[in-house]
Amino acid sequence: MTQTIESPRHITIIGAGLVGSLQAIYLAQRGYQVTVFEQLPDIRKEAIAAGRSINLALANRGIHALEEVGVMDLVKPLLIPMKGRMLHDEAGNLQLQSYGQKPEEVIYSVSRAGLVSLLRDKAEDTGLVTFHFKHELRSIEFNRQRFEVENLLTGVTEAHDFEYLMGADGGGSQVRECMKTLGETEVSSELLDHSYKELTVPAGAEGDFQLYKEALHIWPRGEYMMIGLPNPDGSFTMTLFMPNKGKVSFEAIETTTQLEQFFDEHFADVKALIPDLTHDYFANPTGYLGTIRCNDWHHKNVILTGDAAHAIVPFHGQGMNCGFEDCVAVMEALEHSNHNWSGLFETVQLARQVNANAIADMSLENYVEMRASVNDPQFHLKKRIAFALEKRWPETFIPRYSMVMFHLVPYAEAYARGRVQAHILERLCQDMDGEDDVESMLDLERAERLIKGSLSPIVQEH
Ligand code: FAD
Repeated sequence: MTQTIESPRHITIIGAGLVGSLQAIYLAQRGYQVTVFEQLPDIRKEAIAAGRSINLALANRGIHALEEVGVMDLVKPLLIPMKGRMLHDEAGNLQLQSYGQKPEEVIYSVSRAGLVSLLRDKAEDTGLVTFHFKHELRSIEFNRQRFEVENLLTGVTEAHDFEYLMGADGGGSQVRECMKTLGETEVSSELLDHSYKELTVPAGAEGDFQLYKEALHIWPRGEYMMIGLPNPDGSFTMTLFMPNKGKVSFEAIETTTQLEQFFDEHFADVKALIPDLTHDYFANPTGYLGTIRCNDWHHKNVILTGDAAHAIVPFHGQGMNCGFEDCVAVMEALEHSNHNWSGLFETVQLARQVNANAIADMSLENYVEMRASVNDPQFHLKKRIAFALEKRWPETFIPRYSMVMFHLVPYAEAYARGRVQAHILERLCQDMDGEDDVESMLDLERAERLIKGSLSPIVQEH
């Protein structure tokens, strides 16, 4: 049987967001001509709202991809390291909880607009990438390899041919919609019954940070929470996550008095630092959150990537990082197939879908951890035990958060190992309480038996 070898020279990408722009650089660096269609104006030329989340947490997986395309040195000046979570209780007491235990185990706050602009610049610098802004995908004829975009400047609908098309058009993907309409994929979309609202703590009078700079701040309040990430201009972008309905919910806060009262009661230490609270709260949109999974990521010469294939809730700070890993996977598959695109998309889906599902689940679990578990002394005890075990058996026991954020262990493996580890931690902390000194109290022989009996060393991280 002869195998078809397909080596296109031109690739079309829909969506010039984080993933589409990075994918364009990768492909251009391997000699492909790339054309990208983006519905929004170019944020480098027109000031437009970032859409959602003004800043994001960048972690190891994202950094790995940015290093591969050689832009990390340019990204570094945009980054603010966050060493851990700064927990704010209702009385205003602070507690910094480290994310990792090595100096390099930090995550970074980065501006969405800054990062995407940089990626677009680098893509254009290759001389092989062309962006068409204000062009919105309308439809795809998969058999004829044609698609239609509306030029939003002129209102004219243009038809274009494609060899291969990548749908990097985000959680509301029109590419995915076109596949779904044909019955070529089934899509499950689980909307969370909690939403979010962005608020701002501006810089102080001297341009100073009004909260501790190098942390991700959390106000965990059980059923809801607020978080804050630093920006280079000294401000913090705050995100309030709350149920949509119920006693404490977005629905329940309708007036300025209710809002003031709510913040006085639950976020008193930060309220005075949000001068535009009323305006921001009532003027800023309430953002919905959800998980999108689809059983087929590709049809004929079209594939979904990034949020278009797997939108997740933001509580692990991994959506972009996961999308960047998709780009790495595409390039690895291309390398292995010697740039034969026939069968490429099956390979990519096989490599990524199980991992995307795992990070989707871990992200949902992390919401409970951030808003509630961090208030539980047992949670902190387990965290200290986990660090002690990692110090002793660094090849075999790595806390799940660290596997996800600081390593390249595939998400599905991190998820599976995390479950085994949770069981081990449960058993080890049975005879201890939150105040115990873990180093002296931990039964290391038992720990070794439990670890060696159920976990093998992590062999290879990619
Ligand atoms: P997008 O960034 O959504 O880009 C898609 C692009 O396609 C957009 O520019 C859009 O305009 C364009 N487009 C859409 N439809 C069309 C069309 N029909 N025609 C042409 N163009 C189109 N991730 C992290 O890693 N760390 C975090 O800390 C983090 N925090 C988050 C906080 C919040 C509140 C939210 C909502 C998300 C967060 N994420 C985070 C997730 C992250 O934002 C996404 O995973 C990431 O933006 C996905 O990139 P993408 O390129 O796939 O999609």
